Amino acid sequence: MERFIQFSVLSESKVWIQKGKLTVDQMPRLSDILVSGNSILEYQINLERKNEQVNCYGNLVGTLSISCDRCGQILQFDVDEEFTFKMVPETNPESQNCKEILLDDEDLDIDFYRNDRIDWQDILEDQAILSLPIRNLCEEQGQPTCEIPLNPQEIKNLNIENPFASLIKPGWQNN
Ligand SMILES: [Zn+2]
Repeated sequence: MERFIQFSVLSESKVWIQKGKLTVDQMPRLSDILVSGNSILEYQINLERKNEQVNCYGNLVGTLSISCDRCGQILQFDVDEEFTFKMVPETNPESQNCKEILLDDEDLDIDFYRNDRIDWQDILEDQAILSLPIRNLCEEQGQPTCEIPLNPQEIKNLNIENPFASLIKPGWQNN
């Protein structure tokens, strides 16, 4: 699927809508953060053209596999994000038009498109990155607090494959 849409093909009378699923290989900047496993995000993105501006809004829902920054355990991070912002053509900052747009809409998030091209897949990846916590820790993802840091080799093994995963799961209940 084409990851770019040309601004010039957007219609002012019809919202451009794209729906689908993003996998890790479609999110190259996230691939360093995510661990192997199921990381799939369902998305909807809408582009609504008004003159030279584009209103961009949509949502992302799904699960990203991340690892705890402290112990390396794999955590499932639920994403449920809605986003909305405006895109304007990248112009000379001294241009009068650009100033007016920025002053009028100073409360709204603004992004830019260049050369008649909008990279909508990149927009979705941006939103996925913004949804991630600053620190990935077990206790912040509904897990018991982790305390013992593993060595790098153990973390690597965990990320690749953990044959004892079913034994490690909540087996601490006594009754
Ligand atoms: Zn941890």
